[in-house]
Amino acid sequence: MPDRYAILGIFAHPDDEGSCSGCLAKYAAHGLPVYVACATRGDGIDAKISDPALATRETLAEVRTRELACTCAKLGAQPPIFLGYQDGEVDQVPVETAARAVADLIRELRPQVVITHGPEGGYGHPDHIAVSAFATRGFVLAADPAGAPGRPPFAPAKLYYTAQPRSFLEKVPGYRDRRADIRGQVLAFVGVPDELITTEVPIAEWMALKLEALSCHRTQFQFDPETGQPKLFATTVPEPQRSQIFGYERFVLAQSRLGRNGKETDLLAGL
Ligand SMILES: [Zn+2]
Repeated sequence: MPDRYAILGIFAHPDDEGSCSGCLAKYAAHGLPVYVACATRGDGIDAKISDPALATRETLAEVRTRELACTCAKLGAQPPIFLGYQDGEVDQVPVETAARAVADLIRELRPQVVITHGPEGGYGHPDHIAVSAFATRGFVLAADPAGAPGRPPFAPAKLYYTAQPRSFLEKVPGYRDRRADIRGQVLAFVGVPDELITTEVPIAEWMALKLEALSCHRTQFQFDPETGQPKLFATTVPEPQRSQIFGYERFVLAQSRLGRNGKETDLLAGL
């Protein structure tokens, strides 16, 4: 038995933690140290600034650093850790170099559970795909005595990929039409085949906190002047589908040193 459990999420950009921030809030509330590592500061040349009053191209990195710090504080997570890569260029970083940095971070923080993007990158975002690859490699290297110099090896129990089921394309109104504009390419949502999803964690009771934490990303979202809430795709989906779909966060258990026990509803299952 470890002396404590901890969770580490590794994402590409500030706001990507939103894919599992209900879980981050939930486990933080249960007293676990929750860490968010972010590859970039979200200041890519094609980054959209929701309101020009909030940031300029020159200040965007600094503003988004503060926004993610605000999010982490709301979630009860530790202050964010930035890996120092340039938004929009993460796929140009050598995988082994970034993986060794992740391995070193895992050895320092000793999380039992590591979460990152899936290899499909949600909607094929090259930064997400790159982070998925080097975080996955870092998960392996952290446990390998020859994997990284310095700190003693540490083997986290599980690696999860955040996942949106592909069936959402059929089930959720408007999902099929969602697009992301990345480096001049218009990317459609890819999703994960439903049968690959291992883990579905109920987060309805953390939804309000999740929204409050997402609201820190002032430069990323438009806000409803009436409610003060960010205008998110989720809020356009009518009930009861909204709760059925967004009342859970879903994952693929990508690697496990504990074996596999079918469907899970808890990231700590088996620990
Ligand atoms: Zn992203």
